[in-house]
Amino acid sequence: MAFVEVKDLTKIYRSGEVELRALDGVSLTLEQGKIYAIVGPSGSGKSTLFNIIGGIDRASSGKVVVDGEEVTAMNYEQLTRYRREKVGFLFQFYNLINTLTVYENVQAAAALSNRAGEIMEYLEMVGMADKKDKFPLELSGGEQQRVALARAVIKRPPLILCDEPTGALDYENAKRVLKLLEKVHRDYGPTIVMITHNLAIAEMAHYVVSLRSGQVVSVKANPSPVPAEEVTW
Ligand code: ADP
Ligand code: MG
Repeated sequence: MAFVEVKDLTKIYRSGEVELRALDGVSLTLEQGKIYAIVGPSGSGKSTLFNIIGGIDRASSGKVVVDGEEVTAMNYEQLTRYRREKVGFLFQFYNLINTLTVYENVQAAAALSNRAGEIMEYLEMVGMADKKDKFPLELSGGEQQRVALARAVIKRPPLILCDEPTGALDYENAKRVLKLLEKVHRDYGPTIVMITHNLAIAEMAHYVVSLRSGQVVSVKANPSPVPAEEVTW
């Protein structure tokens, strides 16, 4: 079943006479509960696509439908509700709120759902329960990303969007985050879209979408996704 439908999506940046097509007619169908890797050279439009699917940025034309709702037709309030209810985000540089503790960061997300009672469970899952009163800047990058993951998934969003989630981490911490993502997928089956530069990580996905110059150049099914444990680079 299609969970995300992208049709003829464009994003055009203009500066003076120059027109830059960050997305140049992207069409894609993402099935519910599958893991997608988005790969492509720097500047190929990966983050732009991610931001429009996530309701963070606006398209110039075309359509994005997620779970039957047309994201590209939403107003500001509708986008806020959409992001809150449907999407969990994981970014390369964690994007935690530095003035809140670990616990409070996850609580801020949980408060928007009815899972406030489960904050410690999620912190335990990501191995951060003992650091619940620390502030993000007192943590390593790997620890911050694990908190960000707890924050992203505590509301059990049907769509998890990750933009280079391991891009700033060393090998061990990257593996740990990938294993946690895999566990989340096993536990409740969200659709996961993960931008990565790392082709080894892309082998974890059910499908690999390649972008170049704002266009989809291929969508390849991976008949046997590699478990996070076995991914090496
Ligand atoms: P990727 O994530 O694949 O590296 P991006 O989606 O970030 O690529 O960018 C795609 C293209 O759009 C690039 O050429 C980039 O320079 C351009 N771009 C992205 N954001 C902006 C912006 N706010 N203003 C102008 N150009 C932008
Ligand atoms: Mg990017």
